[in-house]
Order: sequence, then C-alpha cells, then structure tokens
Amino acid sequence: MPAFHEGEVWLVGAGPGDPGLMSLYAIYAIQNADVIIYDALVDENCLSLKAQKAKLEFVGKRGGVKSPKQPEITRKIIDYAKQGLKVLRLKGGDPFIFGRGGEEAITLAHKKIKFRIVPGVTAGIGGLAYAGIPATHREINQSVLFLTGHDEKGQLSNRIDWEAVAKAAPVIVMYMATRPFEQIQKHLLNNGRSENESIAFVMHATTKKQKVVISSLGNAIEDMQKYDVKSPAIIVVGEVVDLRPILNWMDDQEIHANESYHG
Ligand code: SAH
Repeated sequence: MPAFHEGEVWLVGAGPGDPGLMSLYAIYAIQNADVIIYDALVDENCLSLKAQKAKLEFVGKRGGVKSPKQPEITRKIIDYAKQGLKVLRLKGGDPFIFGRGGEEAITLAHKKIKFRIVPGVTAGIGGLAYAGIPATHREINQSVLFLTGHDEKGQLSNRIDWEAVAKAAPVIVMYMATRPFEQIQKHLLNNGRSENESIAFVMHATTKKQKVVISSLGNAIEDMQKYDVKSPAIIVVGEVVDLRPILNWMDDQEIHANESYHG
C-alpha cells in the first residue's frame, strides 16, 4: 500500500453502500486515517473499520438539518491537513461523479496540500448492477449518458441541451433526479423519447433497503407517487432495464408498476 502521510488528504469513494464494494485502498485509508470527513451517502457499515482513535466528522444532511456549505467543508479538510493529520475525505460512490471531488481537490492543489484520489464504484453503474441492470449491453446500446438533476443551485440545470441528450444515448442514467423528474420526463418526451420506454428507479441501491420500481417513461410520474419513489435513487431509462428479469440476482423488493411489463 502507498503510505498515507501526515498532512495528506485522501479523497476516497466508498461506493454506493455495500461495504464489500470498497477498494483495498479505501479500506486501508479508513483503517489509517486520523480524521474521516464523510457524507450522508456513505454507509455507516463502511466506517466500522476505522481506528478507534480516529475522529469521525459528518458533513451531510441529516433529519432535515442542512449540510455545511462546500467552502466550510473544504476549510475543515484544509485545517486538519495543516494540523498534520491523515485526512480522509470519504464520499459516496465515486468522488469524481457528481460528487464535487474535483472542486475539493482543486482547492487542495491551490493550497499545495498533497492529495490522492481513490475512485469508487459509482451508484449509476454499481447500483444498477445490484438491480440486475447492466449500464451497457452489446445488443442494446453503444453509448450511455450520465445526467444530474442538480446544478450548483440544487435545480435542474438550464444548460442541458435536451434534444442532444434525448438523441445521444439509448440509455440515460440519472443522479439526484427524483425531485425534478417531472421536468426531465417532459424534456425527454418532447425530444423524441418514447412513452413506452422502460424505466427503473433503484432506491438505496446495494444496501439492505434496496427497492426497485419498474415503470415506463410515460407512466413514471404517477408510479413514482404511487410507489413512493424517494431519494437516494438512481433512475435509468432504456432497454437495458428489460434485462432485469433475467439478470436480477438479488433478493430485493421489487415493484412492477408497468402492467405491460413482461417480467
Ligand atoms: N458520487 C456519487 C453520486 C453523488 S450524487 C456516486 O458516484 O455514486 C447523489 C446521488 O447519487 C443520489 O441522489 C442518487 O441519485 C445517487 N446515489 C448514490 N448512492 C445511491 C444509492 N445507494 N442508491 C441509489 N442512488 C444512489
């Protein structure tokens, strides 16, 4: 293992939840860190390997209480590093996929603080795999598109070219998209995607609470309400969803909302 030096920051992806999906580097970092600064989406089970003396600092949103702002989090990381601690910044999924890992690392680079990036399994790939949905399948899609429903203001970005998105890839994987989904659905349907396309909502992917709702793009809003689709959820639109009946290997909770779905 590479040495985790004092005064260094490791920016690590913990994966979508199941601790078994953490890399050896992630586990090593958890075992050796002096302080662990972690988000709401980091599963508590991932933290159980920490050294007894290690300080845990939660910087996510909890029980309606807002999370600290990004500059505050970055300041904490820098302060701890300057105190000579081994600082682990632990994030859900992969730090560089809709995880602000780049923003934090840029600040560290500017401050000349040494850092290492440890990629993690992102929810939009690993979470889908736990629902028996491959992000790509040779007969179905030659490209896949990742989209976020949150911009820096927490809203659906008005910089998204929906015509391009709708045409670009047969499979669209969406993060942080439950709240603005009504808008997203309209944009996709107005730009040529079919109402009959399969859609899956994978909630709490890879954890014991994993729940999957299968619907169609046209019925999605109704079914989201009916089946209580809530964050955290990965949303995937496209024919790869239809492979779930064959590939589903986990004993999760499943709701086939779409009656025309032949699972
Ligand atoms: N960096 C993370 C994504 C952070 S954005 C990654 O690579 O996975 C937060 C969004 O990720 C959530 O709103 C949700 O859309 C998705 N997400 C993260 N973990 C998830 C999980 N266990 N189950 C379902 N969605 C998850």
